[in-house]
Amino acid sequence: MCGIIGCTGRAEDTLDVLLSGLEGLEYRGYDSAGVALANGSLEICKRQGELDRLQQAVGNSLRGPVGIGHTRWSTHGPPTDANAHPHTDCTGNVAVVHNGIIENYDELKAELHARGHEFESDTDTEVVPHLIEAALAEGASFEAAFREAVSRLEGSYALAAVTADTEAILATRHDSPLVLGVGDDAAYLASDVPAFLEYTDRVVYLEDDDFARLESGAWTVTDADGQLLDKSVSRVEWDAEETAKSGYDHYMLKEIHEQPRALRKCLRGRVDELTGSIQVDSLEGLSPSSVQFVACGTSYHAALYGAQTLRDAGIPAQAFLASEYATAPAPVGDDALVVGVTQSGETADTLSALREAQRRGVETLAMTNVVGSTATRECDRTLLIRAGPEIGVAATKTFSSQVVACNLLAATIADRGDSREIVEALRDLPGQVQELLDASRAESVAKRFVDSEGYFFIGRGHHHPVALEGALKMKEITYKHAEGFPAGELKHGPLALVTDQTPVFAVVTGDGEEATKTVGNVKEVEARDAPVVAVTDGASDASRYAEAVLEIPETHPQVAPVLANVQLQLVAYHVANELGRSIDKPRNLAKSVTVE
Ligand code: GLU
Repeated sequence: MCGIIGCTGRAEDTLDVLLSGLEGLEYRGYDSAGVALANGSLEICKRQGELDRLQQAVGNSLRGPVGIGHTRWSTHGPPTDANAHPHTDCTGNVAVVHNGIIENYDELKAELHARGHEFESDTDTEVVPHLIEAALAEGASFEAAFREAVSRLEGSYALAAVTADTEAILATRHDSPLVLGVGDDAAYLASDVPAFLEYTDRVVYLEDDDFARLESGAWTVTDADGQLLDKSVSRVEWDAEETAKSGYDHYMLKEIHEQPRALRKCLRGRVDELTGSIQVDSLEGLSPSSVQFVACGTSYHAALYGAQTLRDAGIPAQAFLASEYATAPAPVGDDALVVGVTQSGETADTLSALREAQRRGVETLAMTNVVGSTATRECDRTLLIRAGPEIGVAATKTFSSQVVACNLLAATIADRGDSREIVEALRDLPGQVQELLDASRAESVAKRFVDSEGYFFIGRGHHHPVALEGALKMKEITYKHAEGFPAGELKHGPLALVTDQTPVFAVVTGDGEEATKTVGNVKEVEARDAPVVAVTDGASDASRYAEAVLEIPETHPQVAPVLANVQLQLVAYHVANELGRSIDKPRNLAKSVTVE
């Protein structure tokens, strides 16, 4: 998820190249960083925290013609010096950096343990240098040992490895990015181009399961069978700032487009498509009699969704605004669970609410994106949403991942055994989000309604939180007035505000009772001249009353909110863009709200 850098062929200043490369990857967000240089022996320095902690610790002391570096976004084990990358084998001869998640690390670790290997970190990554060590001990070359190790891995990875005495970096990728930089006498390797853009603009993009070898400034790429691949070198025309956003104008848009990948990561290793079952290790044995969610902002909308999903599964559940719950907690029964939903794991209001629950002896669960955050340390259990770093202040991909995580939680707690239908819908979701992103007409809808006085969003049932989230996104980044309501509530007051200057975004999917009632509400606003934008799968006749339609693919009713919300994220983004707003850093707002 975070960043890898590597270089060969720059005898004198390898360390500088690695450190400035890590700076170039800083935009990806990280919690620890480290470097390894090879010069007959391995010299390694790694630190938890900001890059300047590593820079201070490493000074100017490390030398060597070959080096790798890493910024870590923890997924397994808290951010500590020991868990920072690079990781080494027992002999200190092999160093490895990794981005991603190795799903089968537990069994590999047990196997290596039984063979006498000692581990120093809590990470999934550390199995890799030990697997290489084991193959080297059996006489394999470095390259054969690296391939042998990689062949044992399941999950997602971008990997780079060095040994003390081979002047080569070996690297590969599977579901995690990696790109080569081609210099005159040096070769570079990184998760993204900004890491080496100051040295070269010539790049070779690696595909999944390609293997790269960088040696004294030269490079080769082979396939999994060792066959040489004929890779083309392309020239990057972006400047560093643009490249950090991978060509997108804003981090928010980039993060909206990262959703298919983020959702795949959230699901990885947790759903079994064969048996249709959902299993999350950190939730094992959890069977509360009722659940209370506490959260703020976007996370509160995910919490509302989570509570409804649990209720649908027969578990009493409610969602509370954390700032209210902290001072006026709702009564809980025996064997209750309080779930704090917080992207950063540092949201002060949510932490207070969780502490209040703990004071009353209630079991707590942190649903968060940040390993090692305060919420994960203080709660009894953690459910990581694994969305990867989110830089734009307005939450996008983390909301989608929270909603998916709520499904994992509901399926686990309700323990209906066979969750086949939902598993299938979740499996198809990342692809459907991609499909929607490729075809969305949100930009033209945004242009059409950019001058409107204000915006309303309505939805029923699982789409109620989507209506609230659609309105919040609009407020946050456009600074225009927007409100979200349960579809049936409009006529009980807010309808007085509806005019031909206030478009109403109506989220309607399926053709059941909820959809029929929402279509009735659509007719009510249409009769008052408000332009309607239907966000719909087309199953109902909502589109007949709409001036514009934002289509979403058909799916399970419980999963449709994610798709509908992506359309609304895009609408808010494009309205804000038309208005020239500061999209990634909206006025008055901060990413992680650490005050109550
Ligand atoms: N899973 C690895 C860890 O927790 C790598 C995380 C990353 O991509 O930075 O250390």
